[in-house]
Amino acid sequence: MPTDLLKWTPSGLYCEPGGFFIDPWRPVERAVITHAHSDHARFGSNRYLCASDSEQLLRLRLGASICLETLPYGKEITLGGVRVSLHPAGHVLGSAQIKIEKEGYTAVVSGDYKRQPDTTCDAFEPIRCNLFVTESTFGLPIFHWSPSESVADEIVEWKKRNEALGRSSLLFAYSLGKAQRLMGLLGDRCGPIYLHGAMEATTDAYRVAGRSLPPSLPVRDAPVGTRWNEGIIFAPPSAQGSPWIRRFGETSSAVASGWMAIRGTRRRRAVDRGFVLSDHVDWAGLLQTIRETEAESVWVTHGFSNIVVRYLSEQGVDARTLETQFVGESPESREDA
Ligand SMILES: [Zn+2]
Ligand SMILES: [Zn+2]
Repeated sequence: MPTDLLKWTPSGLYCEPGGFFIDPWRPVERAVITHAHSDHARFGSNRYLCASDSEQLLRLRLGASICLETLPYGKEITLGGVRVSLHPAGHVLGSAQIKIEKEGYTAVVSGDYKRQPDTTCDAFEPIRCNLFVTESTFGLPIFHWSPSESVADEIVEWKKRNEALGRSSLLFAYSLGKAQRLMGLLGDRCGPIYLHGAMEATTDAYRVAGRSLPPSLPVRDAPVGTRWNEGIIFAPPSAQGSPWIRRFGETSSAVASGWMAIRGTRRRRAVDRGFVLSDHVDWAGLLQTIRETEAESVWVTHGFSNIVVRYLSEQGVDARTLETQFVGESPESREDA
């Protein structure tokens, strides 16, 4: 590798010859952002660069007045002494892998990504590279995702049963990404879709970016006498247990998350149902992706990195762990799983 193309620093991943950080934790001069989730996009940097599809979401999260440049997927620019381009990561709208090239050596930083189809964002694009920096949120063999259509069928069945029993269906999902993916998957099969206020702006951003979503109505705009059990209510996990949910009468609650694949999570989260749906890659998808990059070096971050590194090392891959700052924090508490 050309000397110090990518370095691990207390502020995050640093490309010294390019003069930029990727998803830095601390304010820096120039930040290249993989996507708008709060564990990747942070306040205080002087200049930001992100994929064009991410612009509105990033401004929503960091403020309309941030100094922000955008780049369409696949377009190459030169920063300092390196060539940089952004490529779809398939995680949420505008999510990007960062490709960095210098003297014939290529590094790709995945950000969060998934390999399952998702109509609400561009599909992950495998890129051949020398160094691949991958997330590993669900990097354990126990994580295996069913097709999202079958998860959607389960949700439709749950809602129908709730309706028959006179209960409202309250589905907790993250406001950026998961909620819109679920809306796209369900269409009108659950009746009217009602949104918690925290989801309105992010959902609008998807529509502005040209992603087709079924109609939705903010909960606060629903007419008096709305029969909530005839539709489905989307809310962020933070709304759980709040007085906001009293208006729906008797409810059945559910969470849609990759963590629902672990026994006991549903009980710990105190919901009636758990649906296993993740915007991250599962174990098989992770290994497949690493193979497709043909990278001779792999750096693993965000999640079960030690386990993934041990597995890759046994396969003869030059792999190492990048410690994130989330040590000690439950991975379930992160925004985007
Ligand atoms: Zn993340
Ligand atoms: Zn994310």
